[in-house]
Amino acid sequence: MTYNGTIYRPPVEANTFLLPVTEGCTHNSCTFCNMYQDIPFRMLSLSEVEEYLQEVEKIYGRYCEKIQRVYLVGADPFALSADRLLERIRLIKKYLPNTKVITMYARTDNIASKSDEDLKRLQEAGVDDLYIGVECGLNDVLENLNKGYSADDTREQCLRLNAAGIGHCDLLMLGTAGKGRGLECARASAKLENEIQPRKILINTMSAFVGTELDEEIKAGAFLPASEKENLEEEREFLAGLDLPDCYFWALHPLDSVKIDGILREEKQQMLDALTRSIEHVNESRINRTSRVGTL
Ligand code: SF4
Repeated sequence: MTYNGTIYRPPVEANTFLLPVTEGCTHNSCTFCNMYQDIPFRMLSLSEVEEYLQEVEKIYGRYCEKIQRVYLVGADPFALSADRLLERIRLIKKYLPNTKVITMYARTDNIASKSDEDLKRLQEAGVDDLYIGVECGLNDVLENLNKGYSADDTREQCLRLNAAGIGHCDLLMLGTAGKGRGLECARASAKLENEIQPRKILINTMSAFVGTELDEEIKAGAFLPASEKENLEEEREFLAGLDLPDCYFWALHPLDSVKIDGILREEKQQMLDALTRSIEHVNESRINRTSRVGTL
């Protein structure tokens, strides 16, 4: 199989079997993102997927029976209709018969395009732990980022996932609201997350990658980025506001200046303390390094 573009997957899926299913992103116009700029969205055909799985079977033989979790590659493979996803899941189970969980990135509008019955069928087939780019809880900020959906849309669609029994892992980004609005953003994001009850929260820090619209906005003075200290204050306020004891909080992204992770029930206070130590004691010039990073 020839695959166009870089394969991105959530860091917490580092040990999961990756199966290419789509290329590119259906939206491809968030102002901060350049991951799929030159890659048009394409659904790989069933025969391409089967060919890949046959190759895997040939190389790994009986090891395929050990695989229980499969990550579908692409920016938003959940854009495929439920029927198309189910066709691909049937193939996965033919070649990897002990697969229990199928996970992937999903945009809020991918969920909206499916009926409750579709979601239930997908859940019964093993779809779980969808990764959702929530980014932040403020509608106007999401609009400025051209995310293509609002926080209210995310609330509505994640509650539908919960009702169907499909768990989700939410990606939140620090600094989206710019200078001076981090705490407001943190409170709105914590409120949203408490309502939609994710299994995991993954934090990263917004960065103006070269060639993005955000980079141009910053150069033109149209967007004032938050300092790294403000980002950490936002993260602390967000974390403090979370009431999700069983949720796993993960902030180990290369763009996160303070690396913390843990189950909130057990490690929330230690994580808050680590953020406070950095905010109060670390020289800002040492941590102020992420907002102009050119690439990942
Ligand atoms: S952030 Fe996600 S949804 Fe937005 S353009 Fe990039 S890949 Fe697509």
